[in-house]
Amino acid sequence: MYSKLGISEETLAYGNRIIENLKKRFAKIDETAEYNQLKVLHAMQKNHVQEAYFAATTGYGYNDMGRDALERVYADVFHTEAALVRPQITCGTHALAIALASVVRPGDEILSPVGKPYDTLEEVIGIRESKGSLKEWGVGYRQVELKPDHSFDYDAIKTAITDKTKLIEIQRSKGYLLRPTFSVEQIGELIDFIRSVKPEVVIMVDNCYGEFTERLEPSDVGADMCVGSLIKNPGGGLAPIGGYIAGTRECIEQCAYRLSAPGLGQEVGANLGLMPSLFQGFFLAPTVTASALKTAIFAAAMYEKAGFPVLPSADEERYDIIQAVSMGSEEGLLAFCKGIQAAAPVDSFVTPEPWPMPGYDDPVIMAAGAFVSGSSIELSADGPLKPPYNVYFQGGLTWPHGKFGILKSFQECLNAGVVKLPSL
Ligand SMILES: *Cc1c(COP(=O)(O)O)cnc(C)c1O
Repeated sequence: MYSKLGISEETLAYGNRIIENLKKRFAKIDETAEYNQLKVLHAMQKNHVQEAYFAATTGYGYNDMGRDALERVYADVFHTEAALVRPQITCGTHALAIALASVVRPGDEILSPVGKPYDTLEEVIGIRESKGSLKEWGVGYRQVELKPDHSFDYDAIKTAITDKTKLIEIQRSKGYLLRPTFSVEQIGELIDFIRSVKPEVVIMVDNCYGEFTERLEPSDVGADMCVGSLIKNPGGGLAPIGGYIAGTRECIEQCAYRLSAPGLGQEVGANLGLMPSLFQGFFLAPTVTASALKTAIFAAAMYEKAGFPVLPSADEERYDIIQAVSMGSEEGLLAFCKGIQAAAPVDSFVTPEPWPMPGYDDPVIMAAGAFVSGSSIELSADGPLKPPYNVYFQGGLTWPHGKFGILKSFQECLNAGVVKLPSL
């Protein structure tokens, strides 16, 4: 089958030898997935998930049993008092914008103690001038950079917390930054420190790409809110849209008033027939996340052994599913993305081309052949066309597909002459 799909015997043999050395790591990932699978299953059984919950509702969606049960299941998995899980939350940025805006009032300040937040939040907060930003509403913003060794700058954080500080935003994943992703344990230490300075401050974690990579979630170590997108890890590849916020009863109430309207809150919001995919996607999410983790580690090992700088490296612990590879040349970046696209179950026959994108100075190339448009829990890659030609890639709904995708990208790089097969 590999040769039918364009993988040479040599490439396959190289990949299989790499995998031999990853067996122990993969076993650990499977153990985490096993634990998290039971965690989700337990929450579903406890909340009596039943066929009636899969019925579609329309209109206002009053007394939507399925929707309410799904939110209880999320709350139980995140060990929070409540959760807001809705198709009306359009994406991760929307969920984060709701969480931020629900807490702050004019004159309050938001603090990011871990450096710059995710790009799209710059406009939500108003770090970049933007219509409707929190800055327009009189909300201030402060940021404390990480130390050069990427550790938390506790002295500077203490100084930056004032009587105006209402909300602290911690981004778990590195996103597109060149810093390590924080483990839940590290986030817990940071939260403990913040609480020692200002116990009543609201702490929100941008949990995108981190869900189910560990046994604990940030809400287990004191975060008031965990926020993420359903077309990443927790949707399990089946959710066609949506976002979640899991947190304290008080926070979730405020978020619901912000999402719908004051007075309406969580009572409205029809499920539009999406309950089967949202429940089943969450059920599959632990093993899907495990597949994406294995794929990321496999890619790191394949390319690292072939001489490319990779972040994180193949033997580092993982707390999210993103892998960066420095391809070093335009041809390398294009070949990598071409391979990922050619490996997809959807749109495998098209060739991705670099293109100017809003918000970017350089053309960007994107490869994705996904069942859900823009889904980044499915195998996908992108990178700006500028040195050092970093490609960021993530996802892989199944490990066999993730393995094939990376082999295909490597084969394209071999065919383009930008990499030589290393001898192992
Ligand atoms: C993806 C992501 C977001 C934004 O999510 P969208 O669904 O793309 O709006 C925010 N923060 C991080 C760390 C992310 O990875």
